[in-house]
Amino acid sequence: MAVRNIRINDDPILRKKSREVTEIDDRIKTLLDDMAETMYKAEGVGLAAVQVGVLRRVIVIDVGDGLMELINPEITEKDGKQCEIEGCLSIPGNSAYTIRPFTVKVRAQNREGKWCMYKGEGLKARAFCHEIDHLNGILYTDNLANEDEINEFHGNEDNK
Ligand code: ZN
Repeated sequence: MAVRNIRINDDPILRKKSREVTEIDDRIKTLLDDMAETMYKAEGVGLAAVQVGVLRRVIVIDVGDGLMELINPEITEKDGKQCEIEGCLSIPGNSAYTIRPFTVKVRAQNREGKWCMYKGEGLKARAFCHEIDHLNGILYTDNLANEDEINEFHGNEDNK
């Protein structure tokens, strides 16, 4: 396993669309291992392959209840709405309120190639949305909450 370099800020690769994984070979398994190590070292809760410069549809997430490895993930259901502070390892030193669904269901392959269903609520739903957005070249700064939405969820005291 190895820690890989995280692409940041204006690196143009972050705006590119990642390609589907058609064969889960040793390269993809090594990529998964390295992504997990890179995420933990950076103290993040999720990482997409594009963030380490690989345009494949692979993400890893750990919101504190164990590592999840998702290959070719897609959101199949969204419900509710949340407005919370979000950050990104590719945009160091910044964070802001975003609007996300409160719960999502995600379909993805695991490293054995088996299709699995995942459910996320709260932080885990945000992590799924955030990392899957990366696969489509979308950053959290594209989903920022406006002032009215922040007030609706958090009241005025958060804005003083
Ligand atoms: Zn990110």
